[in-house]
Amino acid sequence: MTKFIEKVKVNNVVTGWVDDHAEELIDWSTKIWNYAELGLQEYQSSKLLAKKLEKEGFSIEMGVAGMPTAFVATWGKGKPVIGILGEYDALPGLSQKLAATKEPIIPEGSGHGCGHNIYGVAAAGGAIAAKKWMEKEGIPGTIKFYGCPAEETLVGKVFMARDHVFDDADVSITWHPNSLNSLWASRSLAMNSVKFNFYGKSSHAAANPEAGNSALKAVQLMDIGVNFLREHLIDPIRIHSTITNGGGAPNVVPDKAQIWYYIRAPHRSEVVETYEKLINIAKGAALMTGTDYTIDFITGCYDMLPNKVLGQVLLNNLKKVGAPSFDEHDMKLAKELTDSFDQGMKEVVVKTSGAPNNLLDKIMHDEVIEPYDEGKCMSGSTDVGDVSWNIPTAQFTTACAPIGTPGHSWQNVVAVGSTIGQKGMITAAKVIGLSVVELIENPSLVAQAQDEFKNEIKQKGGYVSPLPDGLKPPVPSI
Ligand SMILES: [Zn+2]
Ligand SMILES: [Zn+2]
Repeated sequence: MTKFIEKVKVNNVVTGWVDDHAEELIDWSTKIWNYAELGLQEYQSSKLLAKKLEKEGFSIEMGVAGMPTAFVATWGKGKPVIGILGEYDALPGLSQKLAATKEPIIPEGSGHGCGHNIYGVAAAGGAIAAKKWMEKEGIPGTIKFYGCPAEETLVGKVFMARDHVFDDADVSITWHPNSLNSLWASRSLAMNSVKFNFYGKSSHAAANPEAGNSALKAVQLMDIGVNFLREHLIDPIRIHSTITNGGGAPNVVPDKAQIWYYIRAPHRSEVVETYEKLINIAKGAALMTGTDYTIDFITGCYDMLPNKVLGQVLLNNLKKVGAPSFDEHDMKLAKELTDSFDQGMKEVVVKTSGAPNNLLDKIMHDEVIEPYDEGKCMSGSTDVGDVSWNIPTAQFTTACAPIGTPGHSWQNVVAVGSTIGQKGMITAAKVIGLSVVELIENPSLVAQAQDEFKNEIKQKGGYVSPLPDGLKPPVPSI
């Protein structure tokens, strides 16, 4: 039998399993879309995926890294060990019916505005499909599906990486729902999420203002200091904040106040440097106002290091599978969603992503394109970055929403809950399955990916968890 015929057979096992089980995968993704559970509360979503993998013979370790909704599903024996990342958390305030007008199912409820309902399912489906092929062929190797909670709050993989959950995989691959079919080749911004608490002394603001020390004034002065700092920062650094406690009534000098910052930069070291400057500003604000301060370090993450060798494997398999094809029904919904975008939004989204301008003429993406964001740094963060500093990691995207759909929008919730997102999910499951097969069949690719990773890490320095010692994941009590 020639190599070519073998390859066709391999494709049939993986893609055939996904096609034969498409209805089932769609059902899982619909359930998770309806659960719409927030980070670290994804009890039903994580259980659903873990149960399905367990039924297929994967052994399940539930509640890893101190998070009840984080899990690892393992199948097989020996090397190579191929990791697959899956996410399933939703976003607050994005509850939305499957309709082309903004209409929540539950007012202020949560919704899958980032498509993690199809993200986790495609990753699990790809893991099972690849396992079917290994089983049939009697090929050694291990598949590890990492059930990663709380991506939206940049918590899950950071705590998992700190607890060495990814250490026993040789590489990891994943994908993300998008509006384009391509590799996700860009870097992302490293980040710290930190709350500064100020404590002063309360007094009657009219009768005895001299007796009080205002914690709110400390917050205001800190933010003025941060705003003056901006002039002296490199352009891609982003600092954004909300005042989460500014006191109560105006006639009471506030004795407690809090400001919450996200500090983002292209490199982890730049986040650390900027964060130290913010601590000095907090010290200054406390000194000026006679207050004290404490810091709640919420989380931090690394920038993404996309592995080129793995990226090529993903892109080749995406090309083999081809773009999802959308029918009249999908195109009608896609057109309605596109018509609901704010004026100029589609142009802004496409421009920000760095994708070619000619895509603006299309409603849905109907081809696989070469990476358009290689060497660029996207203006957002992902905790996949932390995995990428521990093991070689790459990710691709498929068309799961109309071109130009804003991220974290109600339109995105609709797209990823509809047949549009489901078709992108089926494509992604096939690509993941085929990529696992390719890596297990060609261990030299795994070795090359690891060489590239080692060289990069040698230049950049190793991974030091952004989390302070002993910090526990912020699991809400139920
Ligand atoms: Zn996401
Ligand atoms: Zn997101």
